[in-house]
Amino acid sequence: MSQAVATATSQRLFPLFADLRGRRVLVVGAGSVAARKIGALLDTGARIRVVARAANAEITALAEQGRIALQLGEFDAAQLDDAWLVVAATADEDCNARVAEAAAARRVFANVVDDVAHSAVQFPAVIQRGRLQVAVSSGGAAPMLARHVRARVEALLDESLGDLVELFERHRDAIRTRLRDLPQRRRWFERVLAGVVPRLLRARQRAAAEVALQDALDAAEGVDAQGSVLLVGAGPGDAGLLTLRALRALNEADVILHDHLVGAEILAMARRDAQMIDVGKQAQGARVDQAWIHRLLIEHARRGARVVRLKGGDPFVFGRGGEELEALQAAGIRYEVVPGITAANACAAYAGIPLTHRDHAQSVRLVTAHCEQSADRLDWAGLAQDRQTLAFYMGVAGLGRIRDRLVAHGRAATTPFAIVENGSRPEQRVITGTLVQLPEIALAHSVQSPALLILGEVAALAERLHWFGAAPIDGRCRSATSTSHSLDLAA
Ligand code: SAH
Repeated sequence: MSQAVATATSQRLFPLFADLRGRRVLVVGAGSVAARKIGALLDTGARIRVVARAANAEITALAEQGRIALQLGEFDAAQLDDAWLVVAATADEDCNARVAEAAAARRVFANVVDDVAHSAVQFPAVIQRGRLQVAVSSGGAAPMLARHVRARVEALLDESLGDLVELFERHRDAIRTRLRDLPQRRRWFERVLAGVVPRLLRARQRAAAEVALQDALDAAEGVDAQGSVLLVGAGPGDAGLLTLRALRALNEADVILHDHLVGAEILAMARRDAQMIDVGKQAQGARVDQAWIHRLLIEHARRGARVVRLKGGDPFVFGRGGEELEALQAAGIRYEVVPGITAANACAAYAGIPLTHRDHAQSVRLVTAHCEQSADRLDWAGLAQDRQTLAFYMGVAGLGRIRDRLVAHGRAATTPFAIVENGSRPEQRVITGTLVQLPEIALAHSVQSPALLILGEVAALAERLHWFGAAPIDGRCRSATSTSHSLDLAA
């Protein structure tokens, strides 16, 4: 028995990844089995020489293209002199055994196809994603099982992993320079891998992934420093309307304080081990205790956490974001603000209502009149002027009040409106009508929160320009009977 033959007591193979660039690999045999092995070796940069009595068409073609050297004739041990690796792939078992023995005598690694006993090295089943490779071997004991495992791993690993490897390679030096401390580097990698970069690559957004990685690197120094608060707008509900920056914030957060307006689909995008605090729900229907939220933000940031304060829409549009920043600033906590798509933008877009229009409206006003007190503070005479679009937030409960005051101040009773309920979400409803019937129509269709009222000539365009979800419901047909002008709806 030759030295190359595995002994009965050997337990397991040692996995190695060989750098074959510029190195000679000899393949003995030139049939279909040899062709398969050559295929696996081709783009490793190995200098492949094939020795065989005759070659099949595929191998002959490769030789003609200059990708391999083909030598027709008998195997000769001297051909191993400059080889690092030899593959014996002839149909002749004796010949294969001779190759293996000659290789062993020269300490050249030999692989004999379908002959574990004579193979000093084996070719594993490989899953390849660019330069990332996963090799599977059963040591020759159960090749079918290895193939099965390969297929399962194949399904687990996204195609974009190859891009990810390249991305990290391009920034390798910068990563090492910025993050000299190994545990810190490891934490950074974990964060990046759990974050937006792999996701962007999966979506084939290579340029955005590059920017996100660069950002993560720029933020790297602060990885273990003082905590901070990111005030983040989550948009109106459709997860596709999150900004890339919001997504990244969610992926890097240690603690997330969110409102009830933020949907499950968006929360599901957050880092898995981030602590979630629903500050909407914990208020249990009562008015949210703003001071309690401020305390939570400050406490978590002080103990070093990256806190995300996640709000529906935009944090600076009826989101009390300003008050929170004031509290943070007073406490000396670092903060940033990530804007979001506010309900007026989203509802208008998803209902096919341009907020401004050369023919109908030169300005837009974002308004809230959710209670008598806040309504009293508004400039109704200004709001009642035409050629402007009004977007009322939190208006479901006060539509009667809105109608009465606008009409009293001279806005035409025929001004079109659209109520957008659950804007941008699958269950979106758009209900249209004219100002004079606003509360009655809303009641007839039992409009629920969250809903946004868009009032102005542009609202009539929803009829023609709608594109998302169900067509607008024209409320005028169904509720023309009611004449009450002082009805207030419950939220
Ligand atoms: N900061 C948020 C507004 C918070 S006030 C933003 O910028 O959008 C809450 C009000 O916003 C709701 O009462 C409703 O009028 C409106 N709103 C929020 N999301 C909405 C949605 N998906 N559809 C309709 N209205 C919405």
